[in-house]
Amino acid sequence: MAAAFALGEGRSSVKAKAAATLEVPGRLFVRELACQCGERRRVLRLKGRLRMSQQKCAKCGRRMSPLGTGLANTLRGDTLSSRELARPLSSLGLLPADVIALGRRNRLSCFELGSSSKDP
Ligand SMILES: [Zn+2]
Repeated sequence: MAAAFALGEGRSSVKAKAAATLEVPGRLFVRELACQCGERRRVLRLKGRLRMSQQKCAKCGRRMSPLGTGLANTLRGDTLSSRELARPLSSLGLLPADVIALGRRNRLSCFELGSSSKDP
């Protein structure tokens, strides 16, 4: 994922990198799941692309669902831990041919995964 953020950077400074954003047009990221029993889990995954095992509550086995507050349409580079940044985009549920949009200083650049060409 750090490489994805780097795509949007060009040769910008480290400071600009921190403020870079990543989004998947039309999709939301799930940052937190909640269970009826009160259990919570932090995740980083596209909504609708969670694996069953990720949704199963470790405490009671019921299916967890994202909280409204646990959804985000944009990921900010500076809110992600280095461990999260080290994860490949595929671990977020992204698939080849998905389009990601990288933002920096109000400029948004779109990239299609699995290809190096840039969208017009
Ligand atoms: Zn539960």
